[in-house]
Amino acid sequence: MAARKGTLTVICGPMFSNKSGELLRLATVHRIAGRAVTLFKHSLDDRYQGVDTISTHGGVSMDAEPVATSSEVSLLAGGADVIAIDEAQFFDEGLAEVAAQLLDGGTTVFVAGLDRNFKGEPFGPMPALMAMADEVMKLKAVCMRCRSLNGTMTQRLIDGRPASRNSPIIQVGAAEAYEARCRDCHDVPD
Ligand code: ZN
Repeated sequence: MAARKGTLTVICGPMFSNKSGELLRLATVHRIAGRAVTLFKHSLDDRYQGVDTISTHGGVSMDAEPVATSSEVSLLAGGADVIAIDEAQFFDEGLAEVAAQLLDGGTTVFVAGLDRNFKGEPFGPMPALMAMADEVMKLKAVCMRCRSLNGTMTQRLIDGRPASRNSPIIQVGAAEAYEARCRDCHDVPD
């Protein structure tokens, strides 16, 4: 009988939808089941000072390998039964191919990330990963404007106002913030 292939689960949604929390929950369940679990996070994200952990907004954290490219994931994934990757939207497009190789080798893969950027456009390797996935979990957050439970979009604010479509990624000297919003309240001025 041929060896079993792995499965791919993608956890996506806007900021503040607790994607990292769900990723850590699944990683914990597999650790309890006795599997070797390796966590990765994109090294761009160093919020809450822990560069070696994945942290949720709720304060839960687990050790994670900080990496910058999909090939680093491929190099460091050896020996793991389960791979969990956070902030996947920041990776290069090669992450989909790396995931496909891991699945062929029998590895269970969990990926969490923003499905769309603040403009509402598909983000990095996420659309390819979602198409390949055996299961996609699309989480919602509370819309911070109307308080509905339909927050599916990430709103970018610069100095308290909706960021325009062409606003630079890094706005020097400006107070930048993000919040979850529903489609009706999401605003991207031209
Ligand atoms: Zn709303």
